[in-house]
Amino acid sequence: MGGVWLQEKSWDEVAEYLRNDDRIVLPVGSTEQHGAFAPLGTDSFLAQTLAEDAAQHTGVLVAPPIWFGWSPHHMVLPGTVTIRAEVLMEFLFDVIRSLAEHGFRNFVLLNGHRIVNVPWMQITAERAQRELSVRVVLFDPAYMSKEIVRSLGWGPLGHAEEIEISHMLYRFPEMVDLKKAKDHPHHERSLYYIDPCDTRDTLCYVPSTKKDLRAVYETTGDAIGGHPTRASAEAGRRYHEHLVGRLVGVLESLRS
Ligand SMILES: [Zn+2]
Repeated sequence: MGGVWLQEKSWDEVAEYLRNDDRIVLPVGSTEQHGAFAPLGTDSFLAQTLAEDAAQHTGVLVAPPIWFGWSPHHMVLPGTVTIRAEVLMEFLFDVIRSLAEHGFRNFVLLNGHRIVNVPWMQITAERAQRELSVRVVLFDPAYMSKEIVRSLGWGPLGHAEEIEISHMLYRFPEMVDLKKAKDHPHHERSLYYIDPCDTRDTLCYVPSTKKDLRAVYETTGDAIGGHPTRASAEAGRRYHEHLVGRLVGVLESLRS
């Protein structure tokens, strides 16, 4: 059985893999509204495609994706599923603990739900390192793409904006209907400014609330932030390749 996905392997193939390698990637996404023009699974699809391509370059296995994240603010529109932060942390910990029991030692938690899942993933990573004698690193596309995002003229970081939608147009164009997209630029904020690509980023992140997004929806008819109409598949390709390169670098650095 070829491929990079753990769920496509037999136990015997995993045993063989573990004789030579102990690394694994865990893609973590979300199922949440991404505007009327992109699928609810956007974060999950993007985490999976990054993991899959980096795994093909390195021969590293990828665990089955986690399709749900912490998304209470997106409950304003139908289809969104949110799990409590403590459930996400316990779930992730149990996945790591199971895999560690079989001999996996180096884990990459790949966050497709940019920034928003990070606090819970950090807490889980710290706990897993302390209790399970494993190494766990986080890979968040928003933090790992500063140079390329700036050079593509994108930003600030939003939601279903030109960054995510370009990536989707490159990898999953059949799932995006740009004709339905409307831009919703961010307002300048003098204090709490959230964008890893911008030196004004305060790094003191408190996510939007459902009330905030309801107000956006009532004003614009959608609940996104940014300029999806500027998205392009070619820019998405450059962004994707940059991130795959960085993820390959992370995986190589974790080789025992
Ligand atoms: Zn997203």
